[in-house]
Amino acid sequence: MIDILACPMDKHHPLELFVVTASEEPPDNVLEGALYCTECLRFYPIMEEIPIMLPDDLRNREQEIEFLARYAESLPEKITAGANPWHL
Ligand SMILES: [Zn+2]
Repeated sequence: MIDILACPMDKHHPLELFVVTASEEPPDNVLEGALYCTECLRFYPIMEEIPIMLPDDLRNREQEIEFLARYAESLPEKITAGANPWHL
Protein backbone atom coordinates (compact mmCIF):
# COMPACT_ATOMS: atom_id res chain seq x y z
CA MET A 1 0.00 0.00 0.00
CA ILE A 2 2.84 2.34 0.86
CA ASP A 3 4.19 2.02 -2.68
CA ILE A 4 1.22 3.84 -4.13
CA LEU A 5 1.06 6.71 -1.65
CA ALA A 6 1.79 10.14 -3.06
CA CYS A 7 2.68 13.37 -1.29
CA PRO A 8 -0.57 15.30 -0.65
CA MET A 9 1.16 18.62 -1.32
CA ASP A 10 2.75 17.96 -4.72
CA LYS A 11 1.58 14.41 -5.66
CA HIS A 12 5.19 13.25 -5.87
CA HIS A 13 5.78 9.49 -5.56
CA PRO A 14 7.22 7.08 -4.68
CA LEU A 15 8.01 8.35 -1.20
CA GLU A 16 11.03 7.13 0.75
CA LEU A 17 10.13 4.76 3.57
CA PHE A 18 11.95 4.64 6.90
CA VAL A 19 10.90 1.87 9.25
CA VAL A 20 11.19 2.35 13.00
CA THR A 21 9.34 -0.80 14.07
CA ALA A 22 7.79 -3.59 12.01
CA SER A 23 5.65 -6.52 13.03
CA GLU A 24 6.90 -10.10 12.83
CA GLU A 25 3.47 -11.46 12.02
CA PRO A 26 2.54 -10.63 9.33
CA PRO A 27 6.17 -9.96 8.42
CA ASP A 28 7.40 -6.47 7.55
CA ASN A 29 4.16 -4.72 8.35
CA VAL A 30 5.32 -1.22 9.30
CA LEU A 31 4.01 -0.29 12.74
CA GLU A 32 5.91 2.97 13.24
CA GLY A 33 7.96 4.85 10.72
CA ALA A 34 8.01 7.74 8.33
CA LEU A 35 7.51 8.52 4.67
CA TYR A 36 9.63 11.22 3.09
CA CYS A 37 8.98 13.27 -0.06
CA THR A 38 12.23 14.08 -1.88
CA GLU A 39 10.42 16.79 -3.86
CA CYS A 40 9.23 19.12 -1.06
CA LEU A 41 11.24 17.50 1.79
CA ARG A 42 8.14 16.85 3.87
CA PHE A 43 7.87 13.85 6.15
CA TYR A 44 4.70 11.95 6.99
CA PRO A 45 4.55 9.86 10.15
CA ILE A 46 3.33 6.27 10.20
CA MET A 47 1.65 5.70 13.55
CA GLU A 48 0.14 2.36 14.57
CA GLU A 49 0.37 1.20 10.92
CA ILE A 50 -1.46 4.27 9.59
CA PRO A 51 0.42 6.70 7.30
CA ILE A 52 -0.73 10.20 8.28
CA MET A 53 -0.91 11.84 4.85
CA LEU A 54 -2.32 15.30 5.58
CA PRO A 55 -1.72 18.71 4.04
CA ASP A 56 0.10 21.20 6.27
CA ASP A 57 -3.00 22.99 7.53
CA LEU A 58 -4.48 19.78 8.93
CA ARG A 59 -1.33 18.48 10.59
CA ASN A 60 -0.87 18.29 14.34
CA ARG A 61 2.46 19.99 15.07
CA GLU A 62 2.61 19.09 18.75
CA GLN A 63 1.92 15.40 18.11
CA GLU A 64 4.43 15.21 15.25
CA ILE A 65 7.23 16.92 17.17
CA GLU A 66 6.65 14.42 19.95
CA PHE A 67 6.82 11.63 17.36
CA LEU A 68 10.13 12.94 15.98
CA ALA A 69 11.59 13.26 19.47
CA ARG A 70 10.52 9.73 20.39
CA TYR A 71 12.19 8.22 17.31
CA ALA A 72 15.10 10.64 16.93
CA GLU A 73 17.57 7.74 17.20
CA SER A 74 15.83 5.67 14.52
CA LEU A 75 14.95 8.23 11.86
CA PRO A 76 17.51 9.84 9.53
CA GLU A 77 18.79 13.31 10.31
CA LYS A 78 17.30 14.73 7.11
CA ILE A 79 13.91 14.11 8.73
CA THR A 80 14.56 14.84 12.40
CA ALA A 81 16.76 17.86 11.74
CA GLY A 82 15.62 19.15 8.38
CA ALA A 83 12.21 17.98 7.17
CA ASN A 84 9.23 20.17 6.36
CA PRO A 85 6.85 21.40 7.64
CA TRP A 86 8.74 21.14 10.96
CA HIS A 87 11.58 19.26 12.62
CA LEU A 88 13.38 19.09 15.94
ZN1 LIG B 1 6.03 16.54 -1.45
